[in-house]
Amino acid sequence: MAASKKPRNRAADHAVLAAAHRVDQLRATIRHHSQLYYETDAPEIPDAEFDALLVELRDLEAEFPDLLTADSPTQVVGGSASATFSEVRHSIPMMSLDNVFSPEELQGWGERLERRLAELGDSAAGTALVAELKIDGLAVSIRYENGRLVQAATRGDGRVGEDVTANVRTIASVPHELPAGAPEVLEVRGEIYMPIATFVALNESQAAAGERLYVNPRNTAAGSLRQKDAGVTASRGLAFWSYQLGEVVGGPELRSHHDTFTLLASLGFPVNPEATVVEGLDAAMALCLQWQQHRHDLDYEIDGVVIKVDDLALQRELGATAKAPRWAIAYKFPPEERTTRLLDIGVSIGRTGRATPYAQLEPVFVGGSTVAMATLHNQDQVAFKDVRPGDLVIVRKAGDVIPEVVGPVLSERPEGLAPWVFPTNCPVCGHVLDRPEGESDHRCPNLRCPARVAGAIEHFASRGAMDIEGLGEQRVQQFCEMGLLADVGDIYSLTDSVLLGIDKFQDRSVAKLLAGIDASRSRPLDRLLVGLNIRHLAGAGSQLLAARFGHLDAIASATTEELAAVEGIGTTIATSVAAWFADPTNQAVVAKLRAAGVNFEGPAPSELPQTLTGLTIVVTGTLPGFTREQAEAAIKDRGGKSPGSVSKRTTALVVGEEPGASKVTKAAELGVPVLDAEGFMVLLDTGTVPAPSGGTP
Ligand code: NAD
Repeated sequence: MAASKKPRNRAADHAVLAAAHRVDQLRATIRHHSQLYYETDAPEIPDAEFDALLVELRDLEAEFPDLLTADSPTQVVGGSASATFSEVRHSIPMMSLDNVFSPEELQGWGERLERRLAELGDSAAGTALVAELKIDGLAVSIRYENGRLVQAATRGDGRVGEDVTANVRTIASVPHELPAGAPEVLEVRGEIYMPIATFVALNESQAAAGERLYVNPRNTAAGSLRQKDAGVTASRGLAFWSYQLGEVVGGPELRSHHDTFTLLASLGFPVNPEATVVEGLDAAMALCLQWQQHRHDLDYEIDGVVIKVDDLALQRELGATAKAPRWAIAYKFPPEERTTRLLDIGVSIGRTGRATPYAQLEPVFVGGSTVAMATLHNQDQVAFKDVRPGDLVIVRKAGDVIPEVVGPVLSERPEGLAPWVFPTNCPVCGHVLDRPEGESDHRCPNLRCPARVAGAIEHFASRGAMDIEGLGEQRVQQFCEMGLLADVGDIYSLTDSVLLGIDKFQDRSVAKLLAGIDASRSRPLDRLLVGLNIRHLAGAGSQLLAARFGHLDAIASATTEELAAVEGIGTTIATSVAAWFADPTNQAVVAKLRAAGVNFEGPAPSELPQTLTGLTIVVTGTLPGFTREQAEAAIKDRGGKSPGSVSKRTTALVVGEEPGASKVTKAAELGVPVLDAEGFMVLLDTGTVPAPSGGTP
C-alpha cells in the first residue's frame, strides 16, 4: 500500500501544478481581454468565448480552492477607470452579475437561493422575483442632488468609475432635473445603449462615406459614451433604461424592487416596460425562454434576462459576494458571435454587375444556424477589417440578420499571412473590373457577362417580381448555358417542343414551368418594373411609377423631370429609369415582352386630390368601412405614405378596433398624434390632423 501511495501523490502534485499553470494563463488572458473590452471598447474575441474562459477559471478554482486569490477575475468586477476621464468613487459599489447559461444552471441557482432563504428562515416557494431584460449596453450611475443631475459615472472596477457627466447630459432620455418631491440625493443606475435602428443608420452613413463599419451596438454605445468630446456622444443617439438605485437620501420608503421602478418612472426616468414580477423560479424561467425566442422583436439588443428577488429586505439579507449580489442572476442567451477559420475570399457578380467579395468559412453554428458564407461587402470593408484567408475570424449572426464577419482575431494570426487583394478581372467573364470614382463597389461592365445575364433573369422570375414558378437559379443557369435565354424577353419564347427535348426535364415539370410563365403575363405593372432590373428602382418606387403613369409606355416616354416630379421618386431613380428605357438593348427586351402579351397596364392614374402628399400615416386595428389594406390604399391614393411602424417621422397614428399595443405605446412615447375613424376621415379630406376630441380613441 505504501508503494502505491507515493505515485498517487506525485500525480496529485502534478495535477495541482498543471492547474496552477492553467489558472495563471487564464487570468492573464482574461485580464488582457477585459482591458480591450472595457478600456478600448474594441474586444478581440466574442463574449461567449470570454465567458467560457471565465467559466473554466471558476471551475478550476472550485476544484483547487488553494489557487483562489482575492484579485482573481472571478472575484472582482471587470474593468477599470481609464486616464481619459477623472475618477469617480462610487458611494455604493456597482456590482457585476453572476451568470448562468442553461435552464439547468438556472435551476441550480434557484436551489441555492432556496437553501439560503431557508437558512434565513424564509421560504423560496412563491418568492416574488422580477424578470428583466439584460440590456446589452454599459452600466452608468447618475447622481442627482436636490433634483439636479450633478454627476454621471461608468462602472469602472465597481468602486471607481470614470466621470462621464458631460457625455451623459447629451442623452435625450436622461432627465437633467427631477420634479419636486424627488429624494435629496438619488443615484440612478441603468444601462446606456444604442437602439438598433440608430446603429443601422450610423453604419449606413459610414458605408455611404466609405468609412469603417461599427461592429455591434454594444461596443458602439460604449465607444460613443466614452468620448472626450461630448459633442460626438450627442450625435450618436444613445438611449437609457434605468433599473436600480445606488445611494438614496430622502424620498418615499421602498419595499420592493418594483417599487423602485414605480419611483423611477414617476421621476421621469425611462423604465423598461418588459420587466415582470413573477412568483417563483418556474415562471421566471419561462420568461427567459420566451425572450430567448423573441430577443429580436426588440429595437435594442439584449443578451439575457436578469432575475432579481423583489423584496428589498430579502435582498439585504441575502447580501453579495465581492463581485455580484446573491439576490440576482443573469440568464445568458446562446451566443450570436463565434470564431471560425476564413478559408478563402471569393467574388460574386450580381445582376447589376456589382462584384461582391464574400467569405468562405469553415462552417460554424452561430445565432441559430450553420454559417459557411458571409458577405464582405466591398474592397474597402475587406481592407478595413483586414481579414485574410487563413485568419481565425469572428462571425456574427443576430436573428434574421445576414451573417457577418466582424474581424480577425489578430493574436491568432498565422505568421506571414498575406493581405487579400481584390481581383482586377471579373471571375466569371474575365472582363476588367471597374470601380467608378467615388463609389465603393467594383462592377463588371460587360452587359453580356454570363453572371449578370443569369442574375437579371433570375431576378425577373423571382417572387418579388414576376414570380415564375419553376424558373429558379439552377434552371436559369442551365437555360443560359444552353443558349435558350439571353435576356428576360426570351423567357416567353420557351415552348414545350424546346423544353421536352432537354435531358431529365420531365413532362410534368415542363407543363408547370410553362403554366408559370403564362401566369406571369398578367402580373401587375409594378412587379414588371421591379423585374426589369433597373438600377435603384425597387418595389416602392415601382408602385409609385405604376400608380402615377398607369402604363409602361407612359413611363418609357416620360422625361427625367416628369419621373422625378412623382412624390417619392428622387433624381437618382428618375435618371436611372429614363436611361434604361433610352437604351436600344432594353427597348428590344420591351418589344419582346409586348409581343409576348405581358401586361403593361397599371391601375388607373389616381384622380383623387393629393391631400396627403408628404405625410406619413400609420394605421393599426380595423376601422369601420375599411379593411386595413383599404385604409392604407386610401392614404396612398391621396399621395401619402403608410408604413407598418410608428417612427419620429409619423404624422399621425390611426387607431381602429383591436389595435397593436406596441404602435399605440410608441406613438405615445414619441408624441405622435392619435386619430380615431372620424379624425381619419377629416385627415383624408383636408390633409390636416384634427385636434383630439378629448376621449381616447
Ligand atoms: P454582465 O454583463 O454579465 O452583467 C452585469 C452587467 O449587466 C451590469 O453591470 C449591467 O451593466 C448589465 N445589465 C443589463 N441589464 C441589466 C438589468 N436589467 N439589471 C442589472 N444589470 C443589467 O457582467 P459584466 O461583469 O458587466 O461583464 C461581463 C460581460 O462583458 C460579459 O457579457 C462578457 O462576455 C463581456 N466581456 C467580453 C469581453 C470580450 O473580450 N469579448 C471582455 C470582457 C467582458
